Amino acid sequence: MSSLQKKTDVILIGAGVMSATLGSLLKELAPEWEIKVFEKLASPGEESSNEWNNAGTGHAALCELNYTSEKPDGTIDISKAVQINEQFQLSRQFWAHLIQTGVLHNPQQFIKPIPHMSLVLGESNVSFLKKRFKALTQNPLFQGMEYADEPAKLKEWIPLIMNGRTSSEPIAATKIDSGTDVNFGALTRMMFDYLKDQGVEVHYKHSIKDIKRTPDGSWNVKVHNLDNGRVENHVARFVFIGAGGGSLPLLQKTGIPESRQIGGFPVSGVFMVCKNPDVVEQHHAKVYGKAKVGAPPMSVPHLDTRYIDNKKALLFGPFAGFSPKFLKTGSNMDLIGSVKPNNLMTMLAAGMKEMALTRYLVQQVMLTSEQRMEELREFIPTAKSEDWELVVAGQRVQVIKDTPTGKGTLQFGTEVVSAADGSVAALLGASPGASTAVHVMLEVLRRCFPQELPKWEPKIKEIIPSYGLSLSEHPDLFRQIFSSTSEVLGLNSEDHVTNGVETSPDVVTRSI
Ligand SMILES: Cc1cc2nc3c(=O)[nH]c(=O)nc-3n(C[C@H](O)[C@H](O)[C@H](O)COP(=O)(O)OP(=O)(O)OC[C@H]3O[C@@H](n4cnc5c(N)ncnc54)[C@H](O)[C@@H]3O)c2cc1C
Repeated sequence: MSSLQKKTDVILIGAGVMSATLGSLLKELAPEWEIKVFEKLASPGEESSNEWNNAGTGHAALCELNYTSEKPDGTIDISKAVQINEQFQLSRQFWAHLIQTGVLHNPQQFIKPIPHMSLVLGESNVSFLKKRFKALTQNPLFQGMEYADEPAKLKEWIPLIMNGRTSSEPIAATKIDSGTDVNFGALTRMMFDYLKDQGVEVHYKHSIKDIKRTPDGSWNVKVHNLDNGRVENHVARFVFIGAGGGSLPLLQKTGIPESRQIGGFPVSGVFMVCKNPDVVEQHHAKVYGKAKVGAPPMSVPHLDTRYIDNKKALLFGPFAGFSPKFLKTGSNMDLIGSVKPNNLMTMLAAGMKEMALTRYLVQQVMLTSEQRMEELREFIPTAKSEDWELVVAGQRVQVIKDTPTGKGTLQFGTEVVSAADGSVAALLGASPGASTAVHVMLEVLRRCFPQELPKWEPKIKEIIPSYGLSLSEHPDLFRQIFSSTSEVLGLNSEDHVTNGVETSPDVVTRSI
């Protein structure tokens, strides 16, 4: 049985951090608009945005080596790092605004300070890191970063990583104390609580089956109510497809020309988790290493202090893997079902080009637990198997599209795809991901609401003072914004980090 519901202004598909951010922005800018949310699971933030399904790094390019590349002349290109950092500052400003206006209550429930470090081994990597450090610290956004290559200093910073290290190979690290650990699951849940309070209709256990244009240019969204089995039809003048890995199949259903020649390639992730308090207490940082040859950038190994369920743990990984599912809760038919006549050539071209990635993923899938331990021991030489267990992370669906560099090019960033008339937009890809949700959702507003934007801009600037400005070119404004957001988000003192946070042996893990 199907029923037709009355037309609404906005439909958000998926209750992850992206829909939460867009919904919260729209509630500020157009409070009178009616918004409906449909989520196929029973609660918000259960897929990639869940705290166990991502690494919780507040990506600000403080430690991720893949955002700074060495140019042929040997100098370091920091432009991507500056861009990511500026995007993260937008998120900090929006979150601080939500705290100040009482939308969110306790910043410690979703963001905590943690040093961000990069660690390299070998002469050429050490030379790269030193040059990167010099280039970054000339920019106001990266002030406070330190460099060390003396074992005594490194032992002070990362005792767990240095203890038992016998190799004489050169080693170096950078450290910056203004890094963050973000619980995107908690943030998503809190934003959805607020949206519900604001009268947004949030429907859980409602799965979107189809999206079709109506004669007046709106969108008819066919929804399967998983509780009673009924099919409902909801009409909206704007639809945001924030279905994470599930966005590509839904975008394809819209039939908009912009959805053609786009494919998706799922990469799964596995972390190793340690909950032994004796080990956990010896480490206090997010330490990012260098990706292995052939590894995609999101597979950079890192050893992180995490705060989940108000408990402290260490997570190492992610190990990449292959699963044809587009969502952790998806179907084995997702990948094959996404191959359409209009993207077949794009997908085939990508298959031919990405042999190194395929080899890498096959090799990762075949790893035994002892081989995973060996990779961990490159970080923690004294690591014991009994202290570590596996936890399955979320699925990332990397975008494949035709670009000026060739057919079927694998993209590692996040992409907004929208209809020419701005009536529908989808978010594809997952990197840098949740950290830059505010930047990405501002991009959705820019593309889809050009008529309203001039009217909205004064309010956006009030909420996000650096909107439209490059903070690296406005160092005084950066310092002012950084200091005020640090204060509001409780990032100035580390006292609260250990306050009430246990290093507990009963950290809940999900087994594979
Ligand atoms: C291993 C891993 C590590 C990561 N690490 C980081 C990190 O350290 N820092 C960072 O910033 N980002 C990180 N990310 C990326 C980040 O998790 C994602 O970018 C972000 O969570 C995506 O949010 P979303 O709202 O788009 O998707 P999701 O959180 O996946 O939400 C999408 C929602 O849509 C629902 N849905 C799907 N299909 C349908 C349908 N047909 N009908 C109704 N509902 C539907 C899903 O159930 C889900 O709840 C990581 C991701 C992974 C996988």
